[in-house]
Amino acid sequence: MELRLDPELESFRQEIRTFINDVLPPEIKERQRTKVLNNATVPDQNEWMRILYRHGRSVPHWPVEFGGCGWSPMQIFIFSEELYAADAPEFDWGGTHMLGPVLYTYGSDELQDRFLPMIREGATNWAQGFSEPGSGSDLASLRTSAELVGDKYIVNGQKIWTSGASHCDWGFFLVRTDKTVKPQLGISFLIVKMDSPGVTVRQIPQINGDTHLCEVFLDNVEVPAGQLIGEPGMGWTYAKFLLEHERTTSSFIYWSKRELDRAKEIARGESRGGRRVADDPAFRARFARAEADLLALEWSVLRVLAHEETDTPEAAAASVLKIRGSELQQEITMLQVDALGEKALRFYEASPVAPPPSEAWPDYVPGRTAVALIARAATIYGGTKQVQKNILAKLAFGL
Ligand SMILES: Cc1cc2nc3c(=O)[nH]c(=O)nc-3n(C[C@H](O)[C@H](O)[C@H](O)COP(=O)(O)OP(=O)(O)OC[C@H]3O[C@@H](n4cnc5c(N)ncnc54)[C@H](O)[C@@H]3O)c2cc1C
Repeated sequence: MELRLDPELESFRQEIRTFINDVLPPEIKERQRTKVLNNATVPDQNEWMRILYRHGRSVPHWPVEFGGCGWSPMQIFIFSEELYAADAPEFDWGGTHMLGPVLYTYGSDELQDRFLPMIREGATNWAQGFSEPGSGSDLASLRTSAELVGDKYIVNGQKIWTSGASHCDWGFFLVRTDKTVKPQLGISFLIVKMDSPGVTVRQIPQINGDTHLCEVFLDNVEVPAGQLIGEPGMGWTYAKFLLEHERTTSSFIYWSKRELDRAKEIARGESRGGRRVADDPAFRARFARAEADLLALEWSVLRVLAHEETDTPEAAAASVLKIRGSELQQEITMLQVDALGEKALRFYEASPVAPPPSEAWPDYVPGRTAVALIARAATIYGGTKQVQKNILAKLAFGL
């Protein structure tokens, strides 16, 4: 069986491919292709957002009245696929894919007018302040408090694993505004400026050498009451809306396709025992399996996008895509590392295996190990694999 797009979508793909080729600066593309650490490419990411904005394509998935392109889900899928295939930088995910949809769905006109333009224009980076020590999977137990005093909330508490907090200008935080009601009903959704007095950000060194994850300490931070999104006590509802959205997109199908291509390139370029890795039957079998699994996942994503009628509730479908997508990210990045062999060790500063000084190593080497290591986290962030399986058991099988 062959999956083919209809001719209109194929010509849309060609148009997008040409567009990206025309506007993506080659030096940004090159840095993105060979990047080792996330933090190093934030300026490129912001520049790319501004370029897309100038062409009206920085938030294509938003409703047209807020700056979206009015594309179908399939067109948005193709756009994302082509961005990854071209080694374009990531979006500022927190602003464009998490907060943005919450704001245009639940935010007041005032908050929409104030914040949506800065997200759309690539003028800001956004941190997601949900998890706390002891409140990750059990998010509803979060303790960071926000007390209303006059026209301000006074915020106290600690967040952890806050991606990118050290370079973000703004954050959206889940805070407890009422301790007297059921935990889920006492949570609110608050926008906080990251350089407010009382906010301290501490970077967490990661196994891949990056310091993208952070702890955020909030000590008597004053936040204007008007920066609370929607109604007090409704934060849990908005967070669930956001997380469901996050899980659907975190199948990361476009990313995995790009990385599978790279695994093929590496296997063709590397040899072991006088034989190309790509000709090793054991490697070929693993590669074929990953390719088939990826294709199956892609079809599943497309079925969700096409809103095909199924008996599976949408939240359960999001969990399936999250589980399979994150497992595949791990399998594909490990294929790359295994194909690289000892070259996979090169980009550790403390590596005991130094590359021979005269040898020019192929440019597919940088960053592969760092990416494989951070891919271990794919089955944790956005809701762990075990918790997704619980959701699935409940929603899809009524267990
Ligand atoms: C790379 C990365 C980026 C992240 N970025 C952000 C961010 O930007 N903002 C943010 O707010 N958070 C972020 N997180 C945090 C992430 O959401 C949490 O790590 C996640 O929700 C799990 O929570 P926890 O770490 O407290 O683990 P725990 O909830 O303590 O879980 C520990 C283990 O117990 C298992 N477990 C827990 N409860 C159950 C259960 N009921 N049934 C079965 N098993 C269970 C889990 O599956 C896991 O294996 C990030 C995490 C990572 C790794």
